[in-house]
Amino acid sequence: MASSVRPGPISATTRLTGIFGDPIGHSLSPAMHNAAYAALGMDRRYVAFHVTRAELLPALRGIAPLKIAGVNLTLPHKARALAVMDELTAEGELLGAINCVINRDGKLVGDNTDARGLERDLHAHGIGIAARTVLVVGAGGAGAAAVVALSRLKAARVVIANRTARRASALARRFAQGALRRTRFEAVGLRELVNSSLLAELVCVVNATSLGLTGADFPHLEYDATPPNCFFYDTLYARRPTRFLAGAIRARRKCADGAGMLVEQGELAFNLFNGVRAPHGVMRRALLDTLGRTR
Ligand code: NAP
Repeated sequence: MASSVRPGPISATTRLTGIFGDPIGHSLSPAMHNAAYAALGMDRRYVAFHVTRAELLPALRGIAPLKIAGVNLTLPHKARALAVMDELTAEGELLGAINCVINRDGKLVGDNTDARGLERDLHAHGIGIAARTVLVVGAGGAGAAAVVALSRLKAARVVIANRTARRASALARRFAQGALRRTRFEAVGLRELVNSSLLAELVCVVNATSLGLTGADFPHLEYDATPPNCFFYDTLYARRPTRFLAGAIRARRKCADGAGMLVEQGELAFNLFNGVRAPHGVMRRALLDTLGRTR
């Protein structure tokens, strides 16, 4: 199996990539990236760095002198890191957050692979989004990525439901101008998750909140009011179905969790950091092995 290829020794020539986050112990990115390095025989390692809010700026400033090739950023750093980038890609600017910092000859370039990762995964699931209505629950970083991905898949209408209404409205306003303006964006509260006339129009519902894995329950959603072919997608991933997906499974709707998005955004990041593509299927296999799943 490709993900079980043994890595070579660490030496003075080994170059690092990694991820900054707090907490970081749960990150599955090291398993995915290191499996790809081992499969390619590359003298590189991907390390999870526990970096607190207060440590973010000094940690980012250390990337260039330590010759780190690139790092991913996860909670709570995706927005704050923007301020110290030498350059920002159009995607980073559009999303107002970055999940990748690339060391380009000592210059820090900020990019974001979340929307492209989700777009690829939704495309792979073969859901017909074009000209249809979709619902995104959540208006944080993953919510923004989901809205952008669905708009690029040519949704006619993206409804954004969020606990804090002004955050959903801000997202809808931001994307109503510019490249995504062909899509109609609407902001609503979580009450709309039981609005049967809205639910009856949906082809896809994306959970982009941090809810549903542990702790608080996912808000009440009338799964049965959606069409039988409505697809439920959770940006979260776990060993077992999340609470959001458990409702969809009970209602016999098709669904997927964010493992595929994680793999796709990871493959894009691997290419940005290393200038080569990860071998097909290796990062996915490593992730599924770590989660103890077959798909
Ligand atoms: P974030 O910016 O902090 O946003 C969190 C969202 O969850 C907000 O919409 C927030 O609503 C909502 N929320 C939190 N607690 C809530 C509660 N008790 N009731 C109702 N809504 C609640 O976080 P993020 O960066 O978007 O990340 C969200 C999730 O996406 C993460 O858990 C992460 O695992 C997942 N993600 C997955 C991938 C992947 O590759 N699969 C990539 C990125 C993110 P308010 O605005 O009202 O606070």
